[in-house]
Amino acid sequence: MVDNEQPLSKIEMKTSEKSVRGTAEWAVATVDCCSGCPHGCRYCYARYDLVERRRLLTAEQWQICNISEEDVARRHPLYAGQVMFPTNHDIMPENLAACRTVILNLLRVGNRVLVVSKPHLSCIEELCRDLQPYRDRLLFRFTITARNAGILHFWEPQAPDYAERKACLELAFRQGFATSVSVEPMLDSGDVVAMVDELLPFVSHSIWLGRMNKIAERVRCETPEMQAELARIEREQDDGHINTLYRQLQDIPVIRWKESIKTLVGLQLAAEPGLDV
Ligand code: SF4
Repeated sequence: MVDNEQPLSKIEMKTSEKSVRGTAEWAVATVDCCSGCPHGCRYCYARYDLVERRRLLTAEQWQICNISEEDVARRHPLYAGQVMFPTNHDIMPENLAACRTVILNLLRVGNRVLVVSKPHLSCIEELCRDLQPYRDRLLFRFTITARNAGILHFWEPQAPDYAERKACLELAFRQGFATSVSVEPMLDSGDVVAMVDELLPFVSHSIWLGRMNKIAERVRCETPEMQAELARIEREQDDGHINTLYRQLQDIPVIRWKESIKTLVGLQLAAEPGLDV
């Protein structure tokens, strides 16, 4: 899952009247089947929204992946474009069966599905096997925010490490699925060019780059260590650094820039939801 503007309900339709940002850049609808996520990302918008803003879950409840059987069983229509799953949780061994059911429910009625995850290898092995028949309508997007183990562990303490996420990307690519990467938020901007270079051979669709958004609102800053990390992130994603990064990567065809970077460098914003461009 990603640091996007997240939906407020289990299924959200994106309308073109809204500005096309966050998940709307990728999908016309978003679908979830759980609440809570043990990955523990410190910048997580879903946690901020459900625990702090709307107080629908306690901090303890957020750490557990609660499956909604009603959402798993839901029959979906054929949406008007690409559907993203999940947005408010991730796919992990404890909810894999439920997630696979939802993805299959979406695919069986003809949808194009974007599966976004900080991927566990055991889960992706199983999904690649079971979703083979629908390969032409499925796009994997793996969130790989840094290579540095210390940075990843600090920001995403329970999520798979870089090697495991890269292995998932390579596996899906070799199995013939369309593959993409989300580097949002960029946790180690100075290493992004080298990381892109390393991941490119296994990317058939796109690599999305985005900043950490609304830091003051969403990220709790309770320790000197966190203060220092936030200062580093803010410095590395300031306009000057982003402009430099843009110049370095702009000629790579699969590179895509999230809305806030498009605005900064003068690129045209997406005209409607779900175009994934
Ligand atoms: S993986 Fe889980 S904790 Fe991390 S951003 Fe996604 S939903 Fe939030």
